[in-house]
Amino acid sequence: MYTALRLQRKLKQELGRGEAEITVVTPDPYMTYQPFLPEAAAGSISPRHVVVPLRRVLPHCRVVVGEVTAVDHAKRTATLTTLATDEEGTGPRQSAYDELVLAPGSVSRTLPIPGLADHAIGFKTVEEAIGLRNHVIEQMDIASSTRDPAIRDAALTFVFVGGGYAGVEALGELEDMARYTTRYYHNVKPEDMKWILVEASDRILPEVGADLGRYTVSELRRRNIDVRLNTRLESCADRVAVLSDGTRLPTRTVVWTAGVRPHPLLAATDLPRDERGRLKCTPELTIEGVTHAWAAGDAAAVPDVTADAPGAQTAPNAQHAVRQAKVLADNIAHSLRGEPLRTYAHKYVGSVASLGLHQGVAQVYGRKLKGYPAWFMHRAYHLSRVPTFNRKARVLAEWTLSGLFKREIVSLGSLEHPRAEFELAAGGKPSDESSGDPKGSS
Ligand SMILES: Cc1cc2nc3c(=O)[nH]c(=O)nc-3n(C[C@H](O)[C@H](O)[C@H](O)COP(=O)(O)OP(=O)(O)OC[C@H]3O[C@@H](n4cnc5c(N)ncnc54)[C@H](O)[C@@H]3O)c2cc1C
Repeated sequence: MYTALRLQRKLKQELGRGEAEITVVTPDPYMTYQPFLPEAAAGSISPRHVVVPLRRVLPHCRVVVGEVTAVDHAKRTATLTTLATDEEGTGPRQSAYDELVLAPGSVSRTLPIPGLADHAIGFKTVEEAIGLRNHVIEQMDIASSTRDPAIRDAALTFVFVGGGYAGVEALGELEDMARYTTRYYHNVKPEDMKWILVEASDRILPEVGADLGRYTVSELRRRNIDVRLNTRLESCADRVAVLSDGTRLPTRTVVWTAGVRPHPLLAATDLPRDERGRLKCTPELTIEGVTHAWAAGDAAAVPDVTADAPGAQTAPNAQHAVRQAKVLADNIAHSLRGEPLRTYAHKYVGSVASLGLHQGVAQVYGRKLKGYPAWFMHRAYHLSRVPTFNRKARVLAEWTLSGLFKREIVSLGSLEHPRAEFELAAGGKPSDESSGDPKGSS
């Protein structure tokens, strides 16, 4: 989206219409601002404001809702499936291009753990974040109404696997939301809930440095969150999470945030990839060894020209992705005009992470912040970064209103099954019954 935004300004508006046609292929007609997903799960930001509608911000681009399934760069063609090709049953279609920008990001890095594919949920999309919020509140309703202590225990046990940004922020925000929500239950108390963070290495949040990582562990433990370092999830079959330290936790909630891997589309191209599967890029964001192909973001292995260590590459995060996108767009315009290309150089300025309302950690330009100042910085930074003035204004309004009124504690899980009630009324069987499964499968 950021590349297309800049390209449409450079190529379409500055030089007049007709010079170039920009096509954006995307499975969803919106861009997701992922750093806001934990706050969306906590109910501090509504889901609509975490996403940016591409058709609105890219009026000079052709937005095609679909997926690129393969790229033959030697022939300058991409294979696409779209809603229309599915409907018509015509199969994928070929689309020719002059310049290719490949930025499909990353997908969850899963392991062959029994039960994982059936019972766990990821935390990369707005659907997952909202589904998880609804699921957590639904578990509290189940715990409140059951007479079976085993069902109650499993409903109130929440296991998060992976102590990076996504896992720590999602757990921090959801636990905070659930603890607040217990005040509206007559028989669910904060101490009845078990929140567990499982991390295979000996630290969490490597992005904020070792000191703040240790502080985050102690802060989460102070909130009664069970942080298990040097521990792995071995199984979650039959709704029991089995950890490598021998612990068995009956649970209905396993959230998998144990890292990402490059998008599988990259393997369906004839473009060079590194040993980790990312596209090999030059500091100018072209793909190595070919012409007219560009990449940025999580899918691209870009040399970090600001690092002292030889062979260092930029980390897969939004800070680099957004800045790379802008340089990439400029370089496409430069190359079309025969001008020299710019080198991508950005020194990592640090990280901010929220651990719930008014709690956070931040390391910015070497300065370490904890608690409220870090949380405030987290909000200020992401507000400045979320695309479009429209979204900034809406998010700010929501934060302001939520400071004045009580927090939202409603679960709208039935939104995921809008036809269920009508099917019952019409005498049929609901086709996709809610099962309390975080993935919504029956
Ligand atoms: C919960 C969470 C919190 C995070 N917090 C932070 C943070 O605080 N700070 C930070 O710096 N980073 C953070 N990150 C990481 C950051 O969001 C990513 O590094 C960044 O989004 C990568 O950008 P990208 O453009 O490469 O990929 P993405 O943002 O994933 O975009 C890729 C796009 O390509 C589309 N796509 C995928 N496959 C295809 C296909 N076959 N055809 C067409 N389109 C396709 C996808 O639908 C998607 O829209 C967070 C990530 C998560 C999940």
